[in-house]
Amino acid sequence: MNVVMLVVDSLRAKSLWEGGSAKTPFFDRLRRESVCFERAYATECWTLPSHMSMFTGLLPSQHRAHFQTMQYAASQPTAAELLARAGYRTEVITRNSIFDGAVPGVTRGFHRNATILSPRRGLNPLSVMLALSKPRFRRQILSSGFFSAGQRMSREFVGRFARATVPADREALAHLLARMEQLDRQRAPFFLFCNLYDVHVPYAPVERSIFRPLRKPSSWSETLRMPFVLPKLGGHAYLREGFQLSERSRQLLHARYHAAIELMDAKLGAFYEAAQSSGLLRDTLLIIASDHGEAFGEHSLYLHDASVYDVHLRVPLFVRHPARAAERVSDVVSLRHLFGLIRAAASGSTLHDTILDPEFRAAHPIAIAEHFHYPGVRNARREFRGDLAAAIAGNQKVIVRRDGAFGYDLARDEAERAPHPMGLEDFAARCRAEGTTLSTAAKALAHLQRFRGGTGAVGLAA
Ligand SMILES: [Zn+2]
Repeated sequence: MNVVMLVVDSLRAKSLWEGGSAKTPFFDRLRRESVCFERAYATECWTLPSHMSMFTGLLPSQHRAHFQTMQYAASQPTAAELLARAGYRTEVITRNSIFDGAVPGVTRGFHRNATILSPRRGLNPLSVMLALSKPRFRRQILSSGFFSAGQRMSREFVGRFARATVPADREALAHLLARMEQLDRQRAPFFLFCNLYDVHVPYAPVERSIFRPLRKPSSWSETLRMPFVLPKLGGHAYLREGFQLSERSRQLLHARYHAAIELMDAKLGAFYEAAQSSGLLRDTLLIIASDHGEAFGEHSLYLHDASVYDVHLRVPLFVRHPARAAERVSDVVSLRHLFGLIRAAASGSTLHDTILDPEFRAAHPIAIAEHFHYPGVRNARREFRGDLAAAIAGNQKVIVRRDGAFGYDLARDEAERAPHPMGLEDFAARCRAEGTTLSTAAKALAHLQRFRGGTGAVGLAA
């Protein structure tokens, strides 16, 4: 069976599934036509660690690909490595720079890496400013002497990154469809992973540009404001003492985000329709998920960073398996268990012991997430200078920081506004009251203990 994994970068569940959100007829259709996991949790709040958990089945403390390492060096084979060994064609399709080869180990096992950039070549100053606001790119530029006359390569590098902010997911999906057709004709089983980037900041609000057409006065005002608003968020600036963003700017970003989601919905819908009508989904496991959410001022945060809150961890997850009927699943699941599903589909084994199996979900009722903080921000607020962990079981959630553990009742407090100090043993007792076995609760408890008072000295979880 083929495997196609589509990750819509930065798409939070909150914007799809709550009243007054983006209008998404295709996602609504998927909800009816696939196994829709309504409570899926990422293991981290940003791209690198979250993807590595999906690729390996491990938590960030186990695969150790995060802000403090910026590489994947663990010996555990990735899904791509396993499938390549089994004779699959394995390919990455994206313009997200995490997968461009600069972060060691991330694309281990993929035969081919297609970077799809917008066909529009013209650059604008805002996209260059955005490129320069990323700490990783700034470091590269400084170390390579970007401003010296001989550094054409570096300027090309920034130009390329700036172009990557321009929407191109329609082209990425067309490329994916073409590869599916070609490999299907060659009768080669394939694992195609596509990270879609149009919902990511700068939240392009129209099909072909990061600016709205200048027909209305409101578009003029937005276009004039963007060069001030977006770079303000660069370099993890919102983690610093005294950071502020006006309500008007916050609303502008949020409206652009929802416009980008609506455009993504149409692009994915067209891809799905084409793949289905050409018979390409007949023997294909199709996964559509996101790697993490996005914040617009919730918990004083922006983008995706420094958080184990639901706004960052709860993501949409749809699985379309040829042998499975559509269903809505309300159990808590962790995205890291997609690894087992991909492995099972590729090896032709039963779906027993995968997230499509209710018994497996009952045996893994606690989703654990972690955050390894970004250490490079000067004057970061104290609460953003430590690592975090969270566990979710049913409607019970606990967040562990170095200054204590805090409980949330998600049934009454979905926005996590009312934390109450909670002992970890209390959380384990509540898990047990919700039906979790003693050994599962004890394992989660032992894992969370390691984050108490800690800043990164975290060992391997069981
Ligand atoms: Zn991401």
